[in-house]
Amino acid sequence: MTDSTSQRYYALELDKKDPLKQFRHRFQLKDPRLIYLDGNSLGILPVETPSHLGNVVSEEWGRELIRSWNTGWYERSKQISEKIAKLIGAKPNEVIVTDSTSVNLFKLSYAALKLKTGRKGIVTDELNFPTDIYVLQGLVDLFQNQHHLTLVKSADGMGISLYELENSINDGTALVSLSHVLYKSSFLYNMKVVTGRVHAKGAMILWDLSHAVGAVPIDLNGCNVDFAVGCTYKYLNGGPGSPAFLYVREDLQDKIQSPVWGWFGQKNPFDFQINYEPASGIDRFLAGTPPMLSLSALNPSLDISLEAGMDALRQKSVEQSKYLIDLWRHFLDILGYTLGSPSDENQRGSHVSLKHKEAYRICKALIDENTGKFTVIPDFREPDNIRLGITPLYTRFVDLFDAVMEMKDIVENRIYEKFSSQKDKVT
Ligand SMILES: *Cc1c(COP(=O)(O)O)cnc(C)c1O
Repeated sequence: MTDSTSQRYYALELDKKDPLKQFRHRFQLKDPRLIYLDGNSLGILPVETPSHLGNVVSEEWGRELIRSWNTGWYERSKQISEKIAKLIGAKPNEVIVTDSTSVNLFKLSYAALKLKTGRKGIVTDELNFPTDIYVLQGLVDLFQNQHHLTLVKSADGMGISLYELENSINDGTALVSLSHVLYKSSFLYNMKVVTGRVHAKGAMILWDLSHAVGAVPIDLNGCNVDFAVGCTYKYLNGGPGSPAFLYVREDLQDKIQSPVWGWFGQKNPFDFQINYEPASGIDRFLAGTPPMLSLSALNPSLDISLEAGMDALRQKSVEQSKYLIDLWRHFLDILGYTLGSPSDENQRGSHVSLKHKEAYRICKALIDENTGKFTVIPDFREPDNIRLGITPLYTRFVDLFDAVMEMKDIVENRIYEKFSSQKDKVT
């Protein structure tokens, strides 16, 4: 056997022993040549979703029409929120699924700044997802530049040191807003330690769980987190643009308010009172009518993650990311690929970034259907990151092996040179 044949055999053996292997069949993976490593950006369609949604469309909407509001639709946001709460270590009444992550970030950051009126500092880091930073910049503008936003610098372009972060927080800091897993490098903050330090300085914390939820166990209550938001179309497989969620710790809920006083956040929306009174609890962060179709699509998806269990998912994700990093060291390091993620798994989420000066064209070659044995879908993030998303529900060890072989071949044989470096609109 050649070196690579026996190595591929080893990957197949790992897949056989995988306790989560049966979950792959719950997803629509029709093309045996496709290796999908972008579940951290858009999860794969669960097999059950089309029929589930078909029923919502043709029965609930088509036949029952508006009567469905009284036979399930009105409670659906709550039921789905309770499932999300289980995945993130929150109480059922602390989570509500609504709007997009960006909008929820806005609502909760606004609420925090209104609560902490004496403090004018906002802290995030320079590696945060751009929308998270834009929302904070927008709030500084909205509050007429009374606040100042500090972006904590990264020494290595990969992570943020606790020391630097702590030094940026002082007794004028109202809010610290961070992503639990950083979208480019996969750097994972220690939620418990950071939250404790932020509280010790009298500030509030808002965690964006978008790149963590469904891949990393999260214990919001155990960490005493104030606020959190997150999206459901990445590791939770809710479908493109599926509604996001927000979390507010129980004791804070009645002390804060949403900047959007919409009727779904009113105490009794169907009284049609002309004066706004906020609903008690988390519901005050609802604004308008929930998107019933995309909301309903979350039901089969969340059931799969709950069934698999976060600890088992994390264990497989760590094993796979370690395996992928071993493959990189063995096959790709000498070809100009460098590791763009922390090598310590305790500081890493569920994707691995490999950097290369030809990253963009390598991605194009991987995705091209006429190049190589497999079509590999990772994604590219400026300036030189190839993100390889590991989704333990459906990623196989052999997928990682085959993808690495394609990455090797594309550079060794300069196949990327056939592709233009002109960027697509969505990368
Ligand atoms: C994916 C992601 C978002 C996306 O926000 P949307 O409003 O859903 O587009 C926001 N923040 C982080 C950290 C993300 O990873």
